[in-house]
Amino acid sequence: MPDHLIPVMAGHLVRADPGFMSTIELPEYAPVPQSATGPALNEHGYYVGRVERNLYWVTDGGYQAAFLTTADGVVLFDAPPTIGHNLQRAIDEIAAANGVPNKVTHLVYSHHHADHIGASSLFGPDVVRIGHAETKRLLARTGDPARPAPDLTFDTKHALEVGGETVNLAWHGSNHTPDNIYIHLPGHETLMLIDVVVPGWASFAAFNVNVDVPGSIAAPDNALDYPWKHFIGGHLGRLGTRDDLTLHQHYLADIVDNVRTALATVDPMPFYARYGDNVWAAVKAYLDTASAQAAAPVVEKYSGVLGAADVFITSTVFVILESLRLDLGEGLYIHP
Ligand SMILES: [Zn+2]
Repeated sequence: MPDHLIPVMAGHLVRADPGFMSTIELPEYAPVPQSATGPALNEHGYYVGRVERNLYWVTDGGYQAAFLTTADGVVLFDAPPTIGHNLQRAIDEIAAANGVPNKVTHLVYSHHHADHIGASSLFGPDVVRIGHAETKRLLARTGDPARPAPDLTFDTKHALEVGGETVNLAWHGSNHTPDNIYIHLPGHETLMLIDVVVPGWASFAAFNVNVDVPGSIAAPDNALDYPWKHFIGGHLGRLGTRDDLTLHQHYLADIVDNVRTALATVDPMPFYARYGDNVWAAVKAYLDTASAQAAAPVVEKYSGVLGAADVFITSTVFVILESLRLDLGEGLYIHP
């Protein structure tokens, strides 16, 4: 983000450079409901709170990580670079208050994306890094020194035991990425699943930039199959509940229903007639029109219910529309 733009909430930007800002027009959005917001950050720019017993979560208001303090050391779950050095500050704060070790001995990777584990190298070479086998393959492909490959990998499940605590790691197929895992802490009634459901908020752009749309639509079902009360989704300022996942499922079901209606009712022919040999222009105009038609009722229903229901909806609807066509084969025509 250029430093002349200061983010406030919900996409509003305040002007730091009147000359620059007077040249562009920024859209207005619906206010973010109180239910989407979380606790205030401290003077370092983070909040750390207890999830349950010795499990804690950390946020910078945009990203989330978690850590488990034990008599044998700290297990850290993800290391987002935006939280960066505040991860160890948060751990130090909690460890000092409880008289337990502050040394991170294990670092669990939810998936390979740099925005969630790009501060991994801050914890040095002596940490045991754990992740899915595909995470190791994907990290080997890029060789980013900020994200050392996991030392310990698994294919379907792994029970991590540290200091008398158990963390169940599982892979149930691809969703947001091919390697995204479910992190279940049965002794803390907590499930961590990153970049699938953003509690209190509509999805980020292009349906959370998911590479596998059917897998991402199915993932909340897998998540709800586990017993838990607290959900760590990886983004924005608060933890989630089972109700947040159910609401997300209703939101997706409404998008899918409205996309099906748009595919069945928006006639592509006038767009081809208008643009002639510029086929891309015709296709774009058709898809934009169908996406806008599908998005409108979703925005109306979820404004005031989910934060930013009107911000990324068009790109999310487009990705789901294409998945219905390409993954599920809906709305396609066989030439007679
Ligand atoms: Zn991701």
